[in-house]
Amino acid sequence: MVEGSCLRGGIAFEVDEVAMISVCHCSLCRKSRGSAFGTTASVRAPAFPLHIFVGSRAPWWEITDGAPQFEEWVPGYEPE
Ligand SMILES: [Zn+2]
Repeated sequence: MVEGSCLRGGIAFEVDEVAMISVCHCSLCRKSRGSAFGTTASVRAPAFPLHIFVGSRAPWWEITDGAPQFEEWVPGYEPE
């Protein structure tokens, strides 16, 4: 079981299985993590089916899995 949350703590998650862990040394990952590299844990979509914030997604990125999608934060929203 892996648990995590956003920095603010408003969104929390749990996943049973991590599909892949990767480490990237590109300039964007170094800058965003304030470190020599960025570490990312990837999960399969069915394990993490919640798309809360989609307002900033790229216009060509279409999400078709039927999970809830909101353009912005919805106060009081609790995932089922
Ligand atoms: Zn990178």
